[in-house]
Amino acid sequence: MEKNTLLQVWPIPAFDDNYIWCIHDEHFALVVDPGQSKPVLKYLEQKKLTLKGILVTHHHADHTGGILELLRALDGSVPVYGPAGKDIPGCSNVVHEGDKLEITQPRISLKVSEVPGHTLSHVAYFANMQANVVEPILFCGDTLFACGCGRLFEGSPKQMSESLAKFAALPKNTLVYCTHEYTLSNIRFALAVEPNNFNLITWAQEAQALRKLNLPTLPTTIGQELQVNPFMRCDQSEVIEAARQVSGRSGALAPTEVLEVIRSWKDRF
Ligand code: ZN
Ligand code: FE
Repeated sequence: MEKNTLLQVWPIPAFDDNYIWCIHDEHFALVVDPGQSKPVLKYLEQKKLTLKGILVTHHHADHTGGILELLRALDGSVPVYGPAGKDIPGCSNVVHEGDKLEITQPRISLKVSEVPGHTLSHVAYFANMQANVVEPILFCGDTLFACGCGRLFEGSPKQMSESLAKFAALPKNTLVYCTHEYTLSNIRFALAVEPNNFNLITWAQEAQALRKLNLPTLPTTIGQELQVNPFMRCDQSEVIEAARQVSGRSGALAPTEVLEVIRSWKDRF
């Protein structure tokens, strides 16, 4: 009988600030959003892992650019899971809201959520606790970042707001694997929104220390983001007040309007 090895999730750095996350059980591996193939192939070889599948969150090249080269470099094909709507190179399994992916090597059960905003056809993959997963894990692509959210290239503030609300409803201990190391610049912006957020000030110091050692600031958690991420806090009075001031608007602002204002502020920041 196969022994039930705990799953591990490790970052494979790519480009300047991307992470290609590798989920493995010491034998079999999945990778998420391989924008490049070379660092993935090198990692698999070093760790003696066999790639068994590719998960894609959205169509941007920094998340998909390595897929075809990976498929070419590996003997035999592996499934490539990705959203509908835009052609993902090599995509063999189109996924939709609520789909359950029962992957056997490595053994993991993943749930698909559609989370439009950054792009229209963006999906996230969530694994709740199971035999070999001790804490829930989320692969959110460019929808949620530590202390930030993705730019609205295709979707509306309302869509992003609803997508982030889906994440907010996940267990607080969910480990969140974002695909970019944007944390320090996101924190600088978050501090402009909420200069008195004590959790944020503490996190700023911790994140700076990690980056000085060249360590990832990820994964973050849903619980942490609810305390420090202005885009997850659009219903909090300090964030609403900041949105009122930059927009010059008075009166009540709904969370979606707050998100719209601070997202466009961040674009100019
Ligand atoms: Zn993107
Ligand atoms: Fe990206």
